[in-house]
Amino acid sequence: MTQAQIGVTGLAVMGANLARNLARHGHVVAVHNRSHHRTKALVEEHGDEGTFVPCETPEEFVAALERPRRILIMVKAGAATDAVIEEFAPLLEPGDMLVDGGNAHFLDTRRREAALRERGLHFVGAGVSGGEEGALLGPSIMPGGSKESYEALGPLLEDIAAKVDGVPCCAHIGPDGAGHFVKMVHNGIEYADMQLIAEAYDLLRQGLGRTPAELADIFAEWNSGELSSYLIEITAEVLRQVDAATGRPLVDVIADRAEQKGTGRWTVQIALDLGVPVSGIAEAVFARSLSGHADLRAAARGLPGPSGVPAGAVGEDFAEDVRRALYASKIVAYSQGFDMIRAGSAEYGWNVDPGVLATIWRGGCIIRAVFLDRIREAYAAPDKPVTLLAAPYFAEALTLAQDSWRRVVAKAAELGIPAPGFSTALAYYDGLRAERLPAALIQGQRDFFGAHTYQRVDREGSFHTLWSGDR
Ligand code: NAP
Repeated sequence: MTQAQIGVTGLAVMGANLARNLARHGHVVAVHNRSHHRTKALVEEHGDEGTFVPCETPEEFVAALERPRRILIMVKAGAATDAVIEEFAPLLEPGDMLVDGGNAHFLDTRRREAALRERGLHFVGAGVSGGEEGALLGPSIMPGGSKESYEALGPLLEDIAAKVDGVPCCAHIGPDGAGHFVKMVHNGIEYADMQLIAEAYDLLRQGLGRTPAELADIFAEWNSGELSSYLIEITAEVLRQVDAATGRPLVDVIADRAEQKGTGRWTVQIALDLGVPVSGIAEAVFARSLSGHADLRAAARGLPGPSGVPAGAVGEDFAEDVRRALYASKIVAYSQGFDMIRAGSAEYGWNVDPGVLATIWRGGCIIRAVFLDRIREAYAAPDKPVTLLAAPYFAEALTLAQDSWRRVVAKAAELGIPAPGFSTALAYYDGLRAERLPAALIQGQRDFFGAHTYQRVDREGSFHTLWSGDR
């Protein structure tokens, strides 16, 4: 029997497409799924795309693989992943590799990696981005785990990953949970980027009174400049779509409640633990939550505030202001995401290279954008930026954008159009550049009620004030 170079277990949309991608690249792929009908369907429908070895049982599957075995697990993240590991691990031999390509929480990946290492097995938590199309045509892949496992696995994964300028969008990220951690933050950045684009759309729609089709043209035009990205590109397409049933713009018949699967929420939860202000991502997660609270929204609908935008409230240059505000806010969101990766890497000892990440996010993944090349360049400079905001290219972009950014945030407040992503990004920017923050007053309050002490600007040490004579 032909020995397979890699096996894929879990053949729903992601697993099936990754298996097809591997087969299309000339690799012999063993395929397995809990319910055998999926395995049969894959081979029946796509068997002519390459060499698949369909397997009905885990034993058959393991026997079909060359050593060291490489098994890609693509099942529903959570308990299913543990169930699959428990099913396969006893059948494997030292040096074999289990690769989890699902959206696992990086703390689960750390736990699984440590447990399997004890059993002499490699466990690789690999973030995979790009959705089902990316899985088939070339995703961005972020594998964690041991260097040794990457030596055996990397060439296969790099082969099927997206390529930008001939460079594969796949690289070893770092030990244990590093790959799933950066994938989580990638998704958090994706949440922020989507929220900012949605706010730009809302401001233009309400402010300029344009139709979705007209706005599609604006986004398509933006896609040819510094904002050029997959998310801007698909925004134009979504806005251009007409609902077949009603003839109305599809965006107007879609319920305005944004859902979430959890990676954005995880990013914010972990950022709180690490003490990293990812306010752009947090605001995006909260904005989705707010959209889903029908009860709160109904109860508040009658509250006072501007309603409707008076004619002439914004000028024709508003669109350009919004474009610049979007770009500036996006720079903040990515900068915060990269700060979080640096903090996570330091906390867990991963030594993640942010320049490598920017490189492999340029293609294949949902946040792919021309802009990531600028981030890659910033981290390649001899003086690594402490914050991306201060890297020369971004500092200049913010200098050009900031007047527009302030006008847009002020106009949104004046017109009563919610723009939480734009506002929080601007507040973060001003917070970082402030000579002095009101945190001094907070320290005074803390010392007043809790004797928490404070530090002074003119002397070393910790100080406590006797706030009133009788205390
Ligand atoms: P999914 O709907 O998340 O999961 C379905 C697959 O999991 C099926 O193959 C199913 O087998 C299997 N499964 C569920 N419980 C199992 C168990 N206890 N034991 C064995 N197998 C079990 O599939 P998906 O959308 O293709 O996603 C796969 C993974 O990729 C997930 O972790 C997801 O988070 C991640 N991911 C998805 C995307 C995306 O765009 N969809 C992008 C990146 C990453 P049966 O057929 O037998 O039910």
